[in-house]
Amino acid sequence: MLPQADKNNIRTGLQTLAQFDSAPEQAGTTRVLFSDEENKARSYIKDLMQQTGMTVQEDAIGNIFGTLAGNDPDAAPVWSGSHIDTVINAGMYDGMAGVIGAIEACRMIRASGEAHQRPITVVVFASEEPTRFGTGCIGSRAMAGHLSLEQTKELYDDNGISLYSELERLGYTKLDYDAVRKHKGDVFASVELHIEQAPVLEQLGIPIGLVTGICAPTYIHVTLKGEQKHAGSTPMNARHDVVPAAADIILQLEHLARSYGNTHTVATVGKIQVFPNASNVIAGEIRFTIDIRDISKETKQELTKNICNYIQVVAKLRHLDAKYSVDTDDLPHMSDPKVLHVLEDTCQSLQIPYHKMTSGAYHDSLLVAEFAPMAMIFVPSKDGISHDPAEYTSIAEIACGVDVLANALLHLANMQSLN
Ligand SMILES: [Zn+2]
Repeated sequence: MLPQADKNNIRTGLQTLAQFDSAPEQAGTTRVLFSDEENKARSYIKDLMQQTGMTVQEDAIGNIFGTLAGNDPDAAPVWSGSHIDTVINAGMYDGMAGVIGAIEACRMIRASGEAHQRPITVVVFASEEPTRFGTGCIGSRAMAGHLSLEQTKELYDDNGISLYSELERLGYTKLDYDAVRKHKGDVFASVELHIEQAPVLEQLGIPIGLVTGICAPTYIHVTLKGEQKHAGSTPMNARHDVVPAAADIILQLEHLARSYGNTHTVATVGKIQVFPNASNVIAGEIRFTIDIRDISKETKQELTKNICNYIQVVAKLRHLDAKYSVDTDDLPHMSDPKVLHVLEDTCQSLQIPYHKMTSGAYHDSLLVAEFAPMAMIFVPSKDGISHDPAEYTSIAEIACGVDVLANALLHLANMQSLN
């Protein structure tokens, strides 16, 4: 077993990253892809990787790779990584714990002098959060072959700047975009450390969660158009009101999601825009988003199909014009049982209690699962709070996750095969 993680290193890493903040006057940390502050954070991480004895590379979409060489340079590497971009007014652990934790794990392995055959690579995935360009998991999505260079020209931020023009500005377009793509066999195994972002581990009093599968999102954008009319002078039978129609669809969505009777099938309408949005006007148009997540591909597809059909039925009955588009439709993925087995063995050897669980939130590992055997380690989130300045996991809890991660990475890096 390796010596324990150095809590000071973890604390310093997280506190330093938190200082790269585009909105220091506001609570929490804001650091979106390729902002000045995020670029500074990227430089800090690259320096830290170098100080830890790693070779640093970047690819054409801005993923960062820090590699600790193994005895067999040709062997497929073992990966561990997460992200350093944030939502607006974020906490300081979501993503960052996995990056700082993976670098600390590599430092522990190197300091121990233990041999490993395979290279161990810490990956910082570009923009896991959809904050700037509206699409999440940009770096890992490109690796999985779901984001072409052409498509980066169609992703815009709120200022009308495209992802492509940012890649060009920062010199990434000089790199080979084809090399971003990863294929089966390129990566031996991947383990991401992440905060749980839910209260299960805290409630159970268990320090480690081993993720058995990651739920995937489907996003549907819906627009209903009716007739904008006077709220006083228009009789109820002469209306083409979009608001009750949307209410009907939203309640049906809730009913459908609940009907599966499990904890993994969830559906949310979190954003509604009504036009003209006036108390004395029958709205002529409403736009809303539907977010459906599930661990079962079949259930998610069925729910998506049913709600889309229902939108058409409601529109027809109420004589409205309905448009909807399914914009993201990621596949849920199960963790690799053999990688999971290594993590379980590691926890048992370290005598650390663990709990097997599904991740309702998605992570870069969801896309990594498309080309590499993957599993994740969760550490507790206080009160389950995340994407909020109050997000909190103690340094001791993260260090416990890093202990599991480091020993598991070392074990994986000496495995011939996963069979
Ligand atoms: Zn995250």
